[in-house]
Amino acid sequence: QVVTRFAPSPTGLLHLGNVRTALLNWLYARKHGGRFLLRFEDTDQDRSQIEYSDAIKADLSWLGLEWDGDVLFQSGHAGKHGEALKRLAEQGMAYRCFCSESQLSLDRKLATSRGLPPRYVGRCRELGCDEAEERAEHESYVWRLAIHAKEGEVKVPDLLHGQVTFARRDLDDPVVVRSDGSFTFLLPNAVDDAVDGITHALRGDDHLTNSAYQVWLLERLGYQAPIYLHHGLLLGQDGAKLSKRSGSHSVAELREEGLLPGALVQAMGRLGHPNMPDEAHCADELALHLDEEHISTSSVRWSDEEMWRWHTRLLHELDSELLIPLLLPHVPETSHDRLASFASLIEKNLERVEDAALFQRLLDVQAPLEAEALPVVHEAGAEFYQHALDAWHANPDWKSWTFAVKEKTGNKGKALFMPLRVALSGALHGPEMSEVVSFLGYAGIVERIECAIS
Ligand code: GLU
Repeated sequence: QVVTRFAPSPTGLLHLGNVRTALLNWLYARKHGGRFLLRFEDTDQDRSQIEYSDAIKADLSWLGLEWDGDVLFQSGHAGKHGEALKRLAEQGMAYRCFCSESQLSLDRKLATSRGLPPRYVGRCRELGCDEAEERAEHESYVWRLAIHAKEGEVKVPDLLHGQVTFARRDLDDPVVVRSDGSFTFLLPNAVDDAVDGITHALRGDDHLTNSAYQVWLLERLGYQAPIYLHHGLLLGQDGAKLSKRSGSHSVAELREEGLLPGALVQAMGRLGHPNMPDEAHCADELALHLDEEHISTSSVRWSDEEMWRWHTRLLHELDSELLIPLLLPHVPETSHDRLASFASLIEKNLERVEDAALFQRLLDVQAPLEAEALPVVHEAGAEFYQHALDAWHANPDWKSWTFAVKEKTGNKGKALFMPLRVALSGALHGPEMSEVVSFLGYAGIVERIECAIS
């Protein structure tokens, strides 16, 4: 059975970049009838906060990306991480490194000046066990993995790239435990994947070299490495790495702005995914059509406009019972039934829910007109509206009414329809006038035209 995971660090809010990774893992699991796990990588004790893990959970639920089973916490596996390090050390595959920061920086400079990659030179790798134990008593040290070698390869299985082969001579001896005793990302992340039974890990291609380290490490420990999928990175609209400045948002912000969660899911799920059919309109349908072998390997650009286009599209498809609660903050109080017919009347004219405020006059004769609509009423003048009122009493039906008004006032085209539209609906654009007329009814129209006269 396929098991994927989303493994955020609870050190901040959920942002667009992690939404993509979460979504891809969720889609992959759902497509293959598998499980999607949520694991908080909370080993950075100083920066991890329960408020962030709670917020991330709330955001994932809001997006409809529910996880299976209990939420996992990396700190819960701490014992396993220590054990893994011990086993690696016993086999000589992890070693203590006592080199100081200044020594390392000197090494790097020297390597660069010789045109070599700035890798660790391996100085402490040759220390005998006893010597290392002894120095450890009074010197600070980190733990490194003994990966670098003249010969040999590490093969990273990848759904998108096929198999990616790294020569060990090109790999470094990465640090797995810092001098304060805390683990870096590499070992706990890999060991947890193995312990949690993760079969597939989908993540950004900035992790590709990490995967080589992790595959090596897992093989040494006798664990099965997951199959990875390294997707291209998500860039901002300007082509720069997605950051606050290049237009990244937290999910919390978008939620505040009234975005429909499905719009984010659609815009994100389709990025770098040319084969996604247009008719897939919910996350389950996206999962069905996920074509994981053809996701873009190159980076993709985020577009707010595209997300808001989806928002409008989904808004138009929304059942009016679901639309009503969204409209409430933007319109005057009225009965549920009235709001339901209002919702179906204006639904197609909304780009965002707050646009409903433009049509308040449909619900409340005292509601202000759209600012740009005011001059239309003034230009038409009281006399026009008086004729319109008389004509309405005699012809209470949109077609014959406008015909009669035209006869009486000589206004036609825009000069005929606009003043009527504005007086009745409050806005310059909107639903079909015949529908507005049946929504307002006889008395509703009288009230609004009288209001335009005075
Ligand atoms: N905690 C890691 C991150 O947020 C997880 C990376 C992964 O998916 O393996 O980058």
